[in-house]
Amino acid sequence: MATTSIFEARCVVIGGGPAGMMLGFLLARAGVRVIVLEKHADFLRDFRGDTIHPSTFELMHELGLLDQFLQIPHQELSRMKYIFDGHVVCMADFSRLPTKCKFMGFMPQWHFLNFLAAQAKQFPAFELRMESRVVDLLRDGDRIAGVRAKTPLGDLEVRADLVVGCDGRNSIVRQLAKLEIKEVGVPIDVVWMHISKRDRDPEQLFGFFARGKGLGLIDRGDYFQAAFVIPKGGIEKIKERGLSALHDDIVALASFLKDRIAELDDWSKIKLLTVQINRLQKWCREGLLCIGDAAHAMSPAAGVGINLAIQDAVAAANVLAVKLKAGTISIADLAAVQKRREWPTRLIQAMQASVHRYTIARIMIVNALRWLPGLQFLTARFIGIGPRPEHVRSPTA
Ligand SMILES: Cc1cc2nc3c(=O)[nH]c(=O)nc-3n(C[C@H](O)[C@H](O)[C@H](O)COP(=O)(O)OP(=O)(O)OC[C@H]3O[C@@H](n4cnc5c(N)ncnc54)[C@H](O)[C@@H]3O)c2cc1C
Repeated sequence: MATTSIFEARCVVIGGGPAGMMLGFLLARAGVRVIVLEKHADFLRDFRGDTIHPSTFELMHELGLLDQFLQIPHQELSRMKYIFDGHVVCMADFSRLPTKCKFMGFMPQWHFLNFLAAQAKQFPAFELRMESRVVDLLRDGDRIAGVRAKTPLGDLEVRADLVVGCDGRNSIVRQLAKLEIKEVGVPIDVVWMHISKRDRDPEQLFGFFARGKGLGLIDRGDYFQAAFVIPKGGIEKIKERGLSALHDDIVALASFLKDRIAELDDWSKIKLLTVQINRLQKWCREGLLCIGDAAHAMSPAAGVGINLAIQDAVAAANVLAVKLKAGTISIADLAAVQKRREWPTRLIQAMQASVHRYTIARIMIVNALRWLPGLQFLTARFIGIGPRPEHVRSPTA
C-alpha cells in the first residue's frame, strides 16, 4: 500500500516562481519554518519573463545580496526604447531613478530562482521540495490546514498554519479554495520564439510596433527571445496563412531579422502563450492566501509581472513573518496583505488593459513621450519601481 509522508511547517508555499521563492526566502530568514513545494524538477523552463526591475535590485541591496546577485550574467538596459511607426521612442529612462541600480536587468529566470533558492537554503527553517505537485487542500472545518501533493516517491501532506498559493495564473490553490476571479479581458495573445542574434545587430530595442502589429525582442546574449503579438484566439488563422506570412510580418517590423528569419522553419519552434489579466476578488480565506499571478495574472506589457510578484512576497513577509513565527496568524492579517497590494495591482492592470485595448491610448502615450521627454522619468518610475514600492521590514532571525 502506498504511504503518505507527512510534514509540518508554519507556512507552506505552493509554487517556486518569483513570488514563492522570495516569500520562502524571507520567511526562512525571519526564522519561520517554511516548506516550498514546486511541481517541476528544476527552474529551467523557457519562455518565462526575464526582467529584473530596479526595485528588485533595490530589495537585493536591502538584503545585502546585491553584489553577489550582480555577478550572475545579465544584460543591463538603462533606456527602454521601442520603434513606433518608424520613430524611436524612449518609453522609460531608468538612469535617473533614485535606486542603487539605474537600469532594468535581463536575467534568465532560472538563474534568478536558483540564486534565491541557494540563499534560502542557508537558513535551517527553509525547505524546498521539487517535483511536488499540489493536488488538494487539507481542511480543518472551514479553515485550510495544509496541502496534499504528488511526488515521484509517493504522496505528501504538509500541515501548516498558512498555505500561500504562489502557483501562477493557472493556480490550483485558488481554484480549490473557490476564490472568485474577476477577468479583465485582453484582446491579444503572444507567440514566442528564439531568433539568433548577430554582432552587427542594432543596439537593444525592446519592441517594434507598426500598423497595429507588435514585436518584442529580449536580448539573451546569443539569441533574442521574440514575442509577436497576435489577436486573441488568432493562432489558427496565423497557421492557415503559413510560416512565410509570419516571417514577412516579423521582418516588416524589424528588417534586420531578414537574414535569419528562415530559422523559424517549423511550427514547433513557435509557442503560443495566452495572455490573461485577472485578479481575485478576495485573496484569502481562513488559513490561505494567494499572491503573485495566483492572485492577479498580469500581461507581459512592460514586463512588470515578476516585479509585482516579488513586491507581493515582500509585503506578505513584512505583514506575516512575526505572527507566523509566534503562531498567531489571523484572517485579518491575510486581508491586510491584500489591502496593501491590491491598489498597485489594479493600477498596473488598468494601464496594461488600456494599452492593449485602445489604439488611442497607445498613440497618446507614444506622442507624449516623444514630445515631452521629461515623462520618460515618470514612466521609468512607474515601470521600474511601481506604485507603492515595498521595502524589506521582516526581521532576520
Ligand atoms: C507571455 C508572457 C511573458 C511574460 N514576460 C514577462 C517579463 O518579461 N517580465 C515580467 O516581469 N513578467 C512577465 N510576464 C508575467 C510573469 O511571467 C508573471 O507575472 C510572473 O512570473 C508571476 O510570478 P509568480 O511567482 O506569481 O508565478 P509563476 O512565475 O507563474 O510561478 C508559479 C510556479 O508555481 C508552480 N506550480 C504551478 N502549479 C503548481 C502545483 N500544483 N504544485 C506545485 N507547484 C506548482 C509552477 O511550476 C511555477 O514555478 C509574462 C507573462 C506572459 C504570459
